Amino acid sequence: MTEHQALAVTQIFCNLGSLAYASCSDQYNSSMRIALTKTFGFEAAHFLPCFPEGHKCRRMHGHSFKIDVVVEGEVDEAKGYLIDFAEVKAATKPVEDALDHRVLNEIEGLENPTAELLSKWVWDRLAPSLPLLACVRVHETCTSSAEYRGE
Ligand SMILES: [Zn+2]
Repeated sequence: MTEHQALAVTQIFCNLGSLAYASCSDQYNSSMRIALTKTFGFEAAHFLPCFPEGHKCRRMHGHSFKIDVVVEGEVDEAKGYLIDFAEVKAATKPVEDALDHRVLNEIEGLENPTAELLSKWVWDRLAPSLPLLACVRVHETCTSSAEYRGE
């Protein structure tokens, strides 16, 4: 390939590129509601003092918790997105730090750290900085989760 041909090929790709990347405002032109989920995880121990005598959950044990933080709202027409995932992550980081590698029962407000009460505890800490917050889902194991929607 000569230098001239190489230049022509380059120009073709540049033109294709400009066709492929439409301007931001051309993405769509009608209102659109969306839910986004950002997931964070932490390791923690707990025991559940309100379970019946002899129940295994009364013993101290640990989980690799996963928490889904769901935000919901109208997609910004000009931008084509609802919220930067990094904003959600920034809001969740202090909560993650407060829970990671702790005994949950020792944290104020989590003396009875069931998945149900933990989902509300997380909600209460995220809601002030995440106005679009729609749901907090706490996964205690791969098959068990609790979902709180602020009601
Ligand atoms: Zn447990």
